[in-house]
Amino acid sequence: SVKTEGKGSFRFFEARLFEEIRSRLETEVELRRALDERQFVVHYQPRVDLAAGATSSMEALVRWQRPGQGLTGPDRFIQLAEDTGLIVPLGEQVLDSVCRQLAEWTREGAALVPVSVNVSPRQFVQSDILAVFRGAVERYGIDPRLLEIEVTESSMMQDGLGEAAVFRQLRALGIKLCIDDFGTGYSSLSQLQKLRFDVLKIDRAFVLRIDHPEGGTLIASMIAMAHALGMRVVAEGVENQRQMQLLRTLGCDEGQGYYFSRPLAPAELERVTAR
Ligand code: C2E
Ligand code: MG
Ligand code: MG
Ligand code: MG
Repeated sequence: SVKTEGKGSFRFFEARLFEEIRSRLETEVELRRALDERQFVVHYQPRVDLAAGATSSMEALVRWQRPGQGLTGPDRFIQLAEDTGLIVPLGEQVLDSVCRQLAEWTREGAALVPVSVNVSPRQFVQSDILAVFRGAVERYGIDPRLLEIEVTESSMMQDGLGEAAVFRQLRALGIKLCIDDFGTGYSSLSQLQKLRFDVLKIDRAFVLRIDHPEGGTLIASMIAMAHALGMRVVAEGVENQRQMQLLRTLGCDEGQGYYFSRPLAPAELERVTAR
């Protein structure tokens, strides 16, 4: 009858919901263990100066060396880490790993470029981010000018971080600041002017549409605005030579994307840069 069918589909949804909750709980437990056992590794993706054709810096991107499942990308666990607050200790492990790596490259006399680290708004709200960065820099004795912080445009606006005095204090330490995924949030010109960030990263979605007439115009206006505010401009997700050349013509300072290099493990990176 209709009645039992209704009940059956209810049970079906209940089972799906239950399964989803179970799977999230399981991943949360695994995430906690992964933090204890230091299963996270950091890969580095070069950012290339479009005029000079040389690597100007690198972005640190976390991966999870998940037992029995290989290397897992952030899209599979960052959201859950955000929701559970585990992003705070995770972010600190990533920073620690980056600073340790920078110290190692410094000791080896490798050609050093700055490294940018993605920081979640939760880390600003739930931890003393200034103390965390100062601590990591001192622990490894590295030059703070080798560090850059990336905060996404949307998270900055959502959490009202735009006004945070901590940005000024981080800059006073010598750490550079970057707005990530620009064009997908809703920042205002006055907010951007107040923030005085060093770098603006144009979201990949705009680079994808660079060939459309309005696509090129949009990128050109973002570049003009960023330059007027004294920021360097980086285009994300550059996948082919045509995009690279168009961006260079439009006056974009730097590019990052598979066209130049995928994110690489430190050992792979050394092989590439040693050539
Ligand atoms: P994001 O900060 O915008 O990083 C750029 C993402 O684009 C990376 O994805 C990178 O691998 C990918 N990418 C680079 N070049 C290309 C390209 O040419 N084409 C395409 N289709 N993609 C490209 P990934 O590594 O999967 O990271 C995804 C996001 O996870 C990052 O986006 C960032 O928001 C977050 N994330 C990564 N590491 C961390 C971290 O340590 N802490 C925090 N809070 N978030 C992180
Ligand atoms: Mg980023
Ligand atoms: Mg980005
Ligand atoms: Mg992103």
